[in-house]
Amino acid sequence: MPTAEAALATPEQVATYEPVIGLEVHCQLATNTKIFCGCPTSFGENPNSNTCPVCLGLPGALPVLSRHALELAIEGSLALHCEINAKSVFARKNYFYPDLPKGYQISQYDQPLAEHGHVDINVEGTHKRVGVTRVHMEDDAGKSSHDGFKDSEKYSYVDLNRAGTPLIEIVSEPDMRSADEAYAYLTEIKQAMQFIEVSACDMEKGQLRCDANVSVRLKGAEQFGTKVEIKNLNSFRHVKLGIEYEILRQIGLLESGQRVRQQTRLFNPDSGETTLMRDKEEAADYRYFPEPDLLPVIVTEEWKNEIHSKMAELPSPRRARFINEYGLREYDAQVLTLTRPMADYYERAAKASPDPKITANWVMGELVGLLNAAGKSIEESPIPAEHIGELVGLIQSGELSGKLAKEIFPKMFSDGLGPKAIMDRDGLKQISDTGALDKIIEEVLAANPKEVEQYKAGKVALLGFLVGQVMKASKGQANPGAVNGILKAKLES
Ligand code: ADP
Ligand code: ZN
Ligand code: MG
Repeated sequence: MPTAEAALATPEQVATYEPVIGLEVHCQLATNTKIFCGCPTSFGENPNSNTCPVCLGLPGALPVLSRHALELAIEGSLALHCEINAKSVFARKNYFYPDLPKGYQISQYDQPLAEHGHVDINVEGTHKRVGVTRVHMEDDAGKSSHDGFKDSEKYSYVDLNRAGTPLIEIVSEPDMRSADEAYAYLTEIKQAMQFIEVSACDMEKGQLRCDANVSVRLKGAEQFGTKVEIKNLNSFRHVKLGIEYEILRQIGLLESGQRVRQQTRLFNPDSGETTLMRDKEEAADYRYFPEPDLLPVIVTEEWKNEIHSKMAELPSPRRARFINEYGLREYDAQVLTLTRPMADYYERAAKASPDPKITANWVMGELVGLLNAAGKSIEESPIPAEHIGELVGLIQSGELSGKLAKEIFPKMFSDGLGPKAIMDRDGLKQISDTGALDKIIEEVLAANPKEVEQYKAGKVALLGFLVGQVMKASKGQANPGAVNGILKAKLES
């Protein structure tokens, strides 16, 4: 057991140190079947129902690599700007755990699928490139639960439904210098994997998992300090909190004259602390050796290029395209590319609309407002994207005033009808017909003789008031542009 722990570092002490952080991120590949057998990867099934001799680790069963899993792993690696190795090799990583029936994990070791990539992050306006050391494929373990009871006895259970689920592990260089940078790096990876549909990255389902390696050194020092690996970081927030705590703990140790020991520690979300799990095992402890039951993975240049050419667009080029193609401001492009469904939705709406910029305002403003109020995601939007394009078209052509459009919009949301259909149903129509407008305008002028007089005496700002009166008299259905023109002509005649 550790000796008495030192106090956490004070802010003054922290100021003289620099944290060093490297992340190991596991993403579950979005295949329907497991990596080395045909069992389904569906979530929430009865325990041990998604299993077969291969993923149960029965003697003599032979693994066969899923081509889809490999393709997704290549796509994920390309998204991180990695070089794909022409040849990579699966290796056995040997360890005992009840949820690992084979007695080893099939992973990749000295010849991984991909290497030398990077992720660009942006923390409060500062851009930085974080190196990706490697991306390798591996199979997931099952799940143990230790809180079972039967006949008032305590039981542990093992569910092997997850055993054999395909993962990629993304290992970063120790390039990050703060918890915020780690958070940004993780966000970029999640976004990229979701956009190209390599992984759904649902953290609640364990589809995205992260271990954080943290060390500290005096500012200006060349050598890295001893690192600690933090596990059990089940949310982005926990990643940030775990790293922040660990930085304070390590500086506290060093400042009290102790040393940091190389350990694996667990983050405890209740206390916000990290606690010792085990002293760190070395690679040699796993007795890695090449997996004899699987052939080396060969990726030809041709196949790689074919996969690359079919990949969906990544968030950052898509952002750039939204700015160039649709004339969006950088901020709007950022918001509209936060998730793939949002980007797809906006793009469908923009394509159906004569004005992509105004379309962006409707999506980010009115639509997101109604979605938030209803607790719905963009995928659940009751307004199809094309209806927003249609709405902007009707405003543009003068058939609908901006005011009327805002009135119609909630009906589009609640009734699922297009704007034109609602206008027809509710008898709402913008009055552009000069004859009809003429009549309303004459009435308004007659009812406001004082304002008319003042306008004629030079108080031209009153035009706005008079336009407003006409709009009111027409119940918002007059075309404001036409009203403006006719009013002016009448007042100045
Ligand atoms: P191990 O042999 O313990 O697995 P690796 O060198 O493979 O260590 O690195 C694992 C992770 O730890 C990588 O993400 C790497 O960037 C990070 N890392 C390595 N050294 C340090 C360090 N001194 N401080 C923080 N992170 C580190
Ligand atoms: Zn199976
Ligand atoms: Mg390692």
